[in-house]
Amino acid sequence: MKESRCFGVSAIIEMNQLTKTYKGVNAVEKVSLNIEEGEIFGFIGPNGAGKSTTIKMLLNFIFPTSGSASIFGLDCVTDSLAIKKEVGYVSSDVRYYQDMTSRDIFKYTADFHGIRNKEQVIDEYVSYFEIDPDKKIAKLSLGNKKKVAIVSALLQNPKLLILDEPTNGLDPMIQHRLFEVLEAKRKEGMTIFLSSHDLHEIQAHCDRAAFIKNGQIISVESLQKGQDLEKKVMIKASNLNKEQLVALGGSNIQQIDNQWSFIFQGDMNQLMSQLTQLEIQDLVIQPLDLEDKFLSMYE
Ligand code: ADP
Repeated sequence: MKESRCFGVSAIIEMNQLTKTYKGVNAVEKVSLNIEEGEIFGFIGPNGAGKSTTIKMLLNFIFPTSGSASIFGLDCVTDSLAIKKEVGYVSSDVRYYQDMTSRDIFKYTADFHGIRNKEQVIDEYVSYFEIDPDKKIAKLSLGNKKKVAIVSALLQNPKLLILDEPTNGLDPMIQHRLFEVLEAKRKEGMTIFLSSHDLHEIQAHCDRAAFIKNGQIISVESLQKGQDLEKKVMIKASNLNKEQLVALGGSNIQQIDNQWSFIFQGDMNQLMSQLTQLEIQDLVIQPLDLEDKFLSMYE
């Protein structure tokens, strides 16, 4: 492996004007993104937005039409072999030999990557993700196949983990466990690049997220977990008017009958003391979520 694969480089993934064109149509268009070491980065967009195509270019499954990308400072096309040794990948559609059992696949993966204590590590993951290790792949549901792919990728303990819609088909409890593992791995230094079309999932677990639509990045957001500055305030009140909410510092004010909602960014104590002067029947204050910010962009 070349010296440029030193972990001193801060951007683990760098995409520079990455473009893929199919029959004159851009599936991915001039995507430029940097994923920094040790972050959980969300790649979000509706179906057909270009998420899988981008990931396939990173892993050299397809060639870019133009532009370039590097991982660990290595070129994704010319240095793909070296890159793949350090990257775990969960594809959106999981395909394995139908006759193999989950355990066969885990053992094969562990041997391939020279994992120590393989039996113990496999047993831990099997129990954590509630996998029946001796069932053949042919007999597994989509969600259970996805769990096999996730565990295979985790077993490698890669420096970079790329997951393409990993929670598709997983039940909520297993989704929760997956993110527990990902957050623990991130603390150990793993970088995680995760595609999803679920805004809530990205909001809850990612440090930053890029939004892709029609092959183009429309926004990159820092999600700053626990420090949500903007709030969405929802009020139920009969005698309220828009001017009062503007005076409170509200923006993007919406009204349906006696239900009002607005965005607030400022001193919460001041807001609360002013709200007590209004005749309110119900009040909800929550961090402004990505859905509020971006749903309109998708429409
Ligand atoms: P996502 O992963 O966000 O759902 P994809 O990257 O799979 O989206 O697809 C992006 C666009 O590229 C879609 O319009 C899709 O139809 C098109 N596309 C993907 N692969 C091919 C292909 N092999 N040939 C032609 N068009 C493709």
